[in-house]
Amino acid sequence: MAIQRPKGTQDLLPGVVEKWQDLEQHIRKICREYGYEEIRTPIFEATELFQRGVGETTDIVNKEMYSFLDKGDRSITLRPEGTASVCRAYVENKLYGGPQPVKLYYMGPMFRYERPQAGRFRQFHQFGVEVLGADKPIVDAEVITLVWDLYTRLGLKGLEVHVNSVGCPTCRAEHRTKLQKFLAPRREQLCKDCQDRFERNPMRILDCKNATCQEITQGAPTTLDTLCPECSEHFRELRELLTAAGVRYKVDPRLVRGLDYYRKTAFEVLVEDIGAQSAICGGGRYDGLVQEVGGPQTPGIGFAMGVERVLAALQASGQGSDRRPKEFVMFIALGEAAQKEAFSIVSALRSKGIPASIDLLGRSLKSQLKSADKAQARFAAILGEDELSRQVVILRDLALGEQIEVPLDEVKEDLIHKWEEEV
Ligand SMILES: [Zn+2]
Ligand SMILES: [Zn+2]
Repeated sequence: MAIQRPKGTQDLLPGVVEKWQDLEQHIRKICREYGYEEIRTPIFEATELFQRGVGETTDIVNKEMYSFLDKGDRSITLRPEGTASVCRAYVENKLYGGPQPVKLYYMGPMFRYERPQAGRFRQFHQFGVEVLGADKPIVDAEVITLVWDLYTRLGLKGLEVHVNSVGCPTCRAEHRTKLQKFLAPRREQLCKDCQDRFERNPMRILDCKNATCQEITQGAPTTLDTLCPECSEHFRELRELLTAAGVRYKVDPRLVRGLDYYRKTAFEVLVEDIGAQSAICGGGRYDGLVQEVGGPQTPGIGFAMGVERVLAALQASGQGSDRRPKEFVMFIALGEAAQKEAFSIVSALRSKGIPASIDLLGRSLKSQLKSADKAQARFAAILGEDELSRQVVILRDLALGEQIEVPLDEVKEDLIHKWEEEV
């Protein structure tokens, strides 16, 4: 029986992979413009990093991690997200000792053991940015503006940013008390997850998708009701900066990011999706995280977006580019002597950066022409025994359906010239 790929993974074949490359290029370009530098951290880390950095009360850590013991009996986990690793690297490489803030971005595969369903993968891919060592609202505004700008440039329609402030430990303590008091009379009616959250992390009940929980939390105190003066001022400045940058946003007091280390700003970017809105980016401030993984007290903020999710949104809005690279010229050589001659020309063209190819299967003229057509090559260059003896090449323009004869010793320069005209 043939071996199949593991559930929840995918092969990205030519024809699809170009869309990924396009998106990655956009991402790299915008990060360069905003002054964010790339960081590449390991795909696996000590399990403890995610237990401490993502939070033991989260679904990710409780249910979804790919953890295993390696041959040295160390507990290892395939990274389920990027932020904890970036913070670990910031501490381990003493980046806090250099100029601040440190503005980083990452791209790559993440792993979560999720129930397989449409659009959900166990190996999925994220792009994210993190800014470490700066706590002003302008940092939050820059990070949100970056992703807003990226999505706008990509041509996504119906974009809206939702922002909230979840406060700091000081004001959250007050919120927690008020919220528990509000929910206590109907505690038994909450869903099973929320009953767990009631003691551990009651704020997250506001974010529950369960219809009964949503009904129970109608009119519940939000974190905005209890913000301390510092958090309140931070949130006000952020909103003014977003307005100044032309970002379309809405305050959403029910937006509560699921991770334990978030402070103050939480945000999502939503996109129109067949009549409804759905999130294609989430992020927030995490001023407690660097300390949590063993570093000095350092403010941080970042976001992550799922690459698969954004590509699907692009496709849905008709923006998915079809950019399969096309050959410029395909050489059709018949016979060993012609093949040698053609191979030398193809090699010379390739060394000039011109996409050129030659038949590798020794096929007939007819089937080689067919495959040149299928590959949507711009030209076919035919060199048979007859042409070789006359020292010419038949150059067929496959777009126009015309052909001319070019002297063999001129065909290379001729094609270089045509290529330069084309690009
Ligand atoms: Zn506060
Ligand atoms: Zn619930």
